[in-house]
Amino acid sequence: MLDLDQRDVKYLPGVGPARAALLKGELQISTLQDLLYFFPYKYIDRSRIFQIREVDGTMPYIQLKGKILSFEQIGEGRRQRLVAHFSDGTGVADLVWFSGIKYTLDRYCPGVEYVVFGKPTIFGGRVNVAHPEIDVEANINLAEMGMQPYYNTTERMKKAGLNSAAIRKLVNNLMALIVEPLPETLPDWMRDKEHLMGLTDALKVVHNPRTPLELRLAQLRLKFEELFYVQLNLARYASDRQRRFKGYVFARVGEKFNAFYNTKLPFSLTGAQKRVIREIRTDMGSGRQMNRLLQGDVGSGKTMVALMTMLIAIDNGYQACIMAPTEILSEQHYSNIGRFIDGLGLKVELLTGSIKGKRREAILKGLKDGSVNILVSTHAVLEDPVEFNRLGFVVIDEQHRFGVAQRARLWTKSNMPPHVLVMTATPIPRTLAMTLYGDLDVSVIDELPPGRKPIHTEHFYDGNHTAVYAFLDRELKSGRQAYIVYPLIEESEKIDLKNLEEGYLTVCERFVGYKVSKVHGRMKPAEKDAEMQRFKNNETQIMVATTVIEVGVDVPNASVMLIENANRFGLSQLHQLRGRVGRGADQSYCMLITPYQLSEDTRKRIEIMTATCDGFEIAEADLKLRGPGDLEGTQQSGMAFDLKIANLARDGALIEHVREIAKKIVADDPELSRPENVLMGRMLRRLKKSQFDWSSIS
Ligand code: ADP
Ligand code: MG
Repeated sequence: MLDLDQRDVKYLPGVGPARAALLKGELQISTLQDLLYFFPYKYIDRSRIFQIREVDGTMPYIQLKGKILSFEQIGEGRRQRLVAHFSDGTGVADLVWFSGIKYTLDRYCPGVEYVVFGKPTIFGGRVNVAHPEIDVEANINLAEMGMQPYYNTTERMKKAGLNSAAIRKLVNNLMALIVEPLPETLPDWMRDKEHLMGLTDALKVVHNPRTPLELRLAQLRLKFEELFYVQLNLARYASDRQRRFKGYVFARVGEKFNAFYNTKLPFSLTGAQKRVIREIRTDMGSGRQMNRLLQGDVGSGKTMVALMTMLIAIDNGYQACIMAPTEILSEQHYSNIGRFIDGLGLKVELLTGSIKGKRREAILKGLKDGSVNILVSTHAVLEDPVEFNRLGFVVIDEQHRFGVAQRARLWTKSNMPPHVLVMTATPIPRTLAMTLYGDLDVSVIDELPPGRKPIHTEHFYDGNHTAVYAFLDRELKSGRQAYIVYPLIEESEKIDLKNLEEGYLTVCERFVGYKVSKVHGRMKPAEKDAEMQRFKNNETQIMVATTVIEVGVDVPNASVMLIENANRFGLSQLHQLRGRVGRGADQSYCMLITPYQLSEDTRKRIEIMTATCDGFEIAEADLKLRGPGDLEGTQQSGMAFDLKIANLARDGALIEHVREIAKKIVADDPELSRPENVLMGRMLRRLKKSQFDWSSIS
C-alpha cells in the first residue's frame, strides 16, 4: 500500500531536493500526504468565454477568444509598455505588458486565434487586460478546462518557478501514483447516512473538479471529516473529564437566594439573566463539575448573575469566590456586592495584593474557618497560600485576561474541583466557541437591561477636531465626563501616531477649567488605580488614556468615548472601549477619529462600528474580516489553529451538525470501542500525534 505520510515529497517526479526544500520551508509540505492535503484556495471556471462588449471592470477575471489585430509599443525606457489590440468581433480589448516585451512579440502574432485569460480593468473607456495568460485556441480543450484550481504560493517559490501552475502539475503527478483507493477515514455507516463522497474521490475532485457541483460535494466531504474529528476529540475530552471529576451537588435553592430575590434585588432581571441563572443552577445540581463560559456584552448584567449563583453555593453550605483581573475591578465588585447583599447576614471580603498585615491575616483566617462566605479578589489569590474551608464555586470575570494555567490552579484550592463560571464581555462567535471551548458549556446573555440607549457612534476625520471638541465642550458643560483614547504612549519609529503626551497637553490647553487624568500602561498599577478612582469620583472630568481602560471599570457619568486614530484598533477593542460609556440611562456618544486615507478593511471596521452596538454582530464581522487566528482568545488557548479546508466563519451550520453527531457517538460509546467506531478511535490517535493537543484547553 502507498504510505503517503511516510514518503518524502522529494521523490515525487518533478520535485527533487531544491523544490522539496522550498515546499518544506515555505508551505510545511514535507510528505506526499502533506501535498495531497494542500488544497487549492480558489477555482476559476475556464469553460466560459466572454464577449468583449459584455465585460465590465468589476469582473474578477475574464476569458476572451479572438485575434490580435496589431501591436503597439508605447513610452520609453522603464515606462515602456507593449499593447496588443485584440478583437473578438464584438469589440476591441487592449492586452498590456510592462515587461517581457521582446519575448511577447516573438511568441504571439496577429491573425492566430487565441484564448486570452486575465483580470479586466476599464481604462480610457477600453477593456484592458494586463499580462494575460494566452493559449493558441487550437491547442486547448475548453470543455475540459472546467474548474481550474489555484494554489497559494510565496514570492520565494514564484521566483524559483514554483507557481500555482507548477504545483498543479506536481499534484497531478501525485494523483497518477494513487491507483488504488486510499484507506477510508470515515466509517461506512457514516458516509452512507450523511451521503458523503469517498475519501479518494473527494481528494481527486478537490484538486481537479469538473463541475462546481462535484467540487462542492468533495469539499463538503473533506470539511465534514476535518470538523468532525475536532468535535469528536472535544466530546471525548469533555466526557473523560466528566467521568473523572464529580462535582458538588447544589440541590437547594435556599434562604439567602430567596431572601435576596424577594427583598433586595433592585430591579427585575432580564429574561436572559433569568435563563442563564437557571442554566447554571441546573448544571450545579447535576453532580457533574460545572465548567461554563458566560458571554454577555458589556453592561448586560453579568455581575448580578454571578452574585445570585454564588448565593446558591452559599445556600448549600459552600464558599464562593469571584476574581477580577485588576484591583480596581475587584474593588468595584466588592463594593457593588456589599451594597446588594447588605443585611443578609453574609460576610464578604476583599483580598488583593495591597491588603497586607493584620487585615490580611484576619481574612485568611476567615476563609480557612469558613466564616467568610464570599471572597472577592484578583488573581493574586491563586498565587497565595490562600486556603478555603469549603470552596464550592469560583467565578472568573473578564476571562481573556486569565491564562489556562491560572485557571487550573483553582483546583488545588479545594478537595473536589469547584464549579467554575468564566465570564467574558468579549463575545466569541458561536462557531468559534464550539471549536475553541468545545468542552465548556456556553451561556449567553443576549439582552441588555431595559432603558439602555444604543451608544450613538460617529466617524470623524482628523480635520474635524474643532467640531468634535465643541461637542465635548457641550457634554462637559452639562456635567458629564469624557474619555479620550490614544493607541500608543510614545511615537514609534515611522508611524505617525498621535502621542498620548502630546494629546494630553492639547486637551489640557483646549479644556481649560476642567481637570484631566492621564493613564497609560507604563504606570504602576497602584498609580493607575488611583487615577481611575479620581475620575470615577468626578474629581477629574476628562480621562486621557491608552487602552488600559478597556476592561470593565464603571463610571456611569461618563458619556463620551473619543477614540483617536481609531484605525489602529481592532473591532473587538473598539467595541470594548465603547462599552465604557452608555452605562447609565442617558444618551452616550462614541466618536471615532481617523486620518483621511483609510484601507478597505479599516473602512469596513468603522462602518460596522457606526452601524451596530451588538457585540455578537461585531464579533461575527471580526471573524469574517480577520479570520479566527487573530481573534482574542485563540492565541492563548494553546491550540494550533490548523484547519486546512473548513472555515470557522463560514461553516457554522456544518460545525453544529458534526458536533451533534460527535456528542451522540461519545455518549453511546465513550471509549469508541464498538466495531463500528474503532476506525474513529484510530483516526483520533493518529491526528493527535500529528497535529494538536486539545487537552490543554479548558
Ligand atoms: P457587565 O455584564 O458588563 O459586567 P454589569 O454587571 O456591570 O455588566 O451591569 C451593568 C449595570 O447594569 C450595573 O449597574 C448593574 O447593576 C445594572 N443591571 C444589571 N442587571 C440589570 C437589570 N436586570 N435591570 C437593570 N439594571 C441592571
Ligand atoms: Mg463586568
